[in-house]
Amino acid sequence: MWKLIFLGIVIWLIIKLAKYALKANQNNSPEVKSSEEANIENMVECDQCHVHLPRSEAFLVDGKFYCTKAHIKSDAP
Ligand SMILES: [Zn+2]
Repeated sequence: MWKLIFLGIVIWLIIKLAKYALKANQNNSPEVKSSEEANIENMVECDQCHVHLPRSEAFLVDGKFYCTKAHIKSDAP
């Protein structure tokens, strides 16, 4: 009889842990989405050729972004 009660507690614990794991996964997915949105926000447009590139790879000159150093020179008067 005690074995059945113990088995019931073990099954209840497994179900509770499974629900907790599912909740943890649901909480993680919005974080992934927000980081993807952050990557999109970090994209900038070259002022010369209008190519989109990551902000970390772009050159910032006088508040304008450029994809290569050559485009910075060609924009100068
Ligand atoms: Zn360019």
